[in-house]
Amino acid sequence: MPKMATRAMSIELMDTYGKHLFKGKVADEFLSKQGMSWAEMQTGDFTQDSEKADKVAAAVLEWAQSNGAHVYCHWFQPMAAAGVRHGQSGQVQNAMFAFDMETGEPKWDFKGKDLIKGETDGSSFPNGGLRATHTAGGYLAIDPSSPIFLRGDTIFLPSCFVSYYGHALDEKTPVHRSVQALSDQGKRLLKLLGHETEGLVANIGLEQEIFLIPRDAYHRRPDLQLTGRTIMGKDAPRGQEMCDHYMAPLNGNGPALAAMAEMQEECFRMGIPLKTRHREVAPNQFEFAPLFGTASTQIDQNLMVMQVIEEVAAKHGLAALLHEKPFNNVNGSGKHNNWSIATKEGAMVLNPASLNKATGNPEAFPIIMSAIVSAIDIHGDLMRMSISSPGNDFRLGACEAPPAIVSTYLGDDMSDYLDAFASGSAAEYNPGTKTFSFGVEGLGHLSAFTVPAEDRNRTSPFPYGGARFEYRAVGSTQNVSMVNTVLNTITADAFKTVADRIEAGENAADVARELYTKHKRAVFNGNGYDEAWPEEAGKRGIWRIDSGVDAIQVLTSDKNIKLFGEQNIFTEPELAARQEVLLDHYTGTVEMEALTMIDMIKQHVIPSVKESGVGPLAELEATLPVLEAAVAAIHAAETAEEKGALARVLRLETMIDIRDTCDAAEAVVPAEHWTLATYGDLLFMDMYPNPHDAF
Ligand code: ADP
Ligand code: MG
Repeated sequence: MPKMATRAMSIELMDTYGKHLFKGKVADEFLSKQGMSWAEMQTGDFTQDSEKADKVAAAVLEWAQSNGAHVYCHWFQPMAAAGVRHGQSGQVQNAMFAFDMETGEPKWDFKGKDLIKGETDGSSFPNGGLRATHTAGGYLAIDPSSPIFLRGDTIFLPSCFVSYYGHALDEKTPVHRSVQALSDQGKRLLKLLGHETEGLVANIGLEQEIFLIPRDAYHRRPDLQLTGRTIMGKDAPRGQEMCDHYMAPLNGNGPALAAMAEMQEECFRMGIPLKTRHREVAPNQFEFAPLFGTASTQIDQNLMVMQVIEEVAAKHGLAALLHEKPFNNVNGSGKHNNWSIATKEGAMVLNPASLNKATGNPEAFPIIMSAIVSAIDIHGDLMRMSISSPGNDFRLGACEAPPAIVSTYLGDDMSDYLDAFASGSAAEYNPGTKTFSFGVEGLGHLSAFTVPAEDRNRTSPFPYGGARFEYRAVGSTQNVSMVNTVLNTITADAFKTVADRIEAGENAADVARELYTKHKRAVFNGNGYDEAWPEEAGKRGIWRIDSGVDAIQVLTSDKNIKLFGEQNIFTEPELAARQEVLLDHYTGTVEMEALTMIDMIKQHVIPSVKESGVGPLAELEATLPVLEAAVAAIHAAETAEEKGALARVLRLETMIDIRDTCDAAEAVVPAEHWTLATYGDLLFMDMYPNPHDAF
């Protein structure tokens, strides 16, 4: 019986897949009634043609009606969306009808002008001084490259958000600017290498790690509710010692699998290809991964995935934690950002076979790779900046995520090839393979197995993997717009450098050889968790910025102002604004954490210690003035930089010491007097065949 139910459901799912995404066949059904098609909607910019825009709006309205929706919103991504619930999307929801002035009766009303743009107050979102309340106009323009979707009674129109003066006030606009730069420079370089293309696109696939914990225990943790992470909490006697969580069976009786299945269903309806689900390394940790797609659309979809995860979890009596480090001493969560480049005609630029086939030029691949290696070496500071979400403070370099040293793993096969190329070889790259045996040939099954010659390296922040790079150090809560803006921009810059030199008369392969030789210090194929690596990296002189607060400040260095300016990504005022917003965001996060800690000590830890008559009471009482003084010092500091620096010390030194005192209290206070949920309560809900067995 259960088997039948599962089967029927999966067939139904296939049927409803993408019904709530205005794209392809779904869109055609409604556009055709307006004398238009999806293909036509994709050609040129329909927002510039009022007649076309009216037709699209009429089709969208009818699609909405047929799905029971009657509300629309321009859906956008204010700045500094990293590290905030839902990746912080913004929206005002409007009914798709007007009210008759005389009779008051509602009548459907949704026109092209309603569809293509909206206006909102630009000053109430983080804006880094770009908008003041008296000059607050902010404009929302629909982004036709990311399809409209529907959820519940609402139509979501993915939009860009800019100020009255054209400054980007959001995360999305810079991504588009960076794709344009990558496309322009890539097209130019490929042409010089003998291949004509319409342009390039950036593709990404975002693996999303999360924790799912029992909601009743979550309600007994003010820190999780207010800040997304546990600020105190003694380790449970069991952690991830047995490696028994990673890829373990998803409990068919438990709430986690039921919730994950429903999350996927919701996503499938919206055309989000959330293909993969599995358990991750830490107890109660899980992962979803979609099929990759265009960067800006994937980012939109990831924001919706995070929202769906949080909402659906609650329906199943769970709380979803997206934070990078909700728990001490078990793994934190990342969002691997798999990134690749393709031509508009579909050749995969980072895949040697595909690029060789498209260009017929065996030098194209090593030239592209050399350019990317140079980009990583020159602009590793920006890569580090892009992952400085507050939660990553606890994750980078903790042997669960790569260190804060920016390098790339190419593997020995590829490194040997590029070394040979650099010393003059012009051979085409054909990735090696190797065959291994299970040692049971005699059985007649389990025959020899062929695999790529390249192993995988999970300790590198940015390993290459055959057709893509995987930025593994990205934080799980992040809106990854800045991450991809940086990857696209620095690659565009490297392509430009090579193209400029070829145009000035140099030989393309020679330029690449020189770049590779100079910058291959950023290639590291060893173990990134090895204690010897930081020392070695120091000798090599590659980018290493341990502090996230320091990393944020590279945004306005001379090198980076020049880079972003030349590629038309950010003006200097836009960079200064972003830097300020990121610093404020960091400081605000730490302040919330410190105030939460003060409350928890006063309202839970001290009363528990007093009630039971055991534990370090005097020490606990002494922590309060320390925390209060540290918060006051942050308030008193003058600049965003100073505040950020003080906040970092408070968080990573003072609060960690104080946590030890709280955890020492937890260790001795009898369970009946301990009022906070313990790590045992929070982490082991789904480990047992019957979830009610959890303690
Ligand atoms: P891993 O191989 O890191 O364990 P998965 O196979 O689960 O992880 O996920 C890999 C992610 O990378 C998926 O989202 C997948 O669609 C994406 N991906 C695969 N190839 C590319 C590519 N060429 N460009 C961008 N993303 C890709
Ligand atoms: Mg991965």
